[in-house]
Amino acid sequence: ARGKILVSACLMGHAVRYDGKAKPLRHASLDRWQAEGRLVTICPEMSAGMPVPRPPAEIAGGRSGGDVLSGEARVVEATGGDITEGFRQAAENALKLALETGCTHALLIDGSPSCGSRMIYDGGFSGRKHEGEGVAAALLRRNGIRVFADHEIEALAAEIDGS
Ligand code: SF4
Repeated sequence: ARGKILVSACLMGHAVRYDGKAKPLRHASLDRWQAEGRLVTICPEMSAGMPVPRPPAEIAGGRSGGDVLSGEARVVEATGGDITEGFRQAAENALKLALETGCTHALLIDGSPSCGSRMIYDGGFSGRKHEGEGVAAALLRRNGIRVFADHEIEALAAEIDGS
């Protein structure tokens, strides 16, 4: 059987982002995978009980979600709260669902402190990004899931549908 694809809920049109909005992606491959029953949708942050809307959060004191998993960085809210444990739980929920449902790949919204896989914000809440991944993306990758950003859907399609 062909592997399934874990997908960010906001990318599928669910209004679950911190700002109460969705960020839907329109693409023929996505429609086809959905028709084939290959998409597994999750919002990691909502799965960990975070409300909508919620304060924006960024990874601080480290470069990436991997630093959060190893305890070297924290996830902080713009309002000052420390939400590191919630983000760890969110990542674990995403990994558990991916493994339970047979996901080999993930397509996640870039830039998020959970779902980002190429770029994340730098922790200063000033709109600056740097290369890095969110906590959920980091945990998925550590466990062998191939993670692609929303803007890499063509590469994902080539990898899983090609040849
Ligand atoms: Fe979207 Fe992921 Fe943020 Fe949920 S945690 S709103 S799925 S980017």
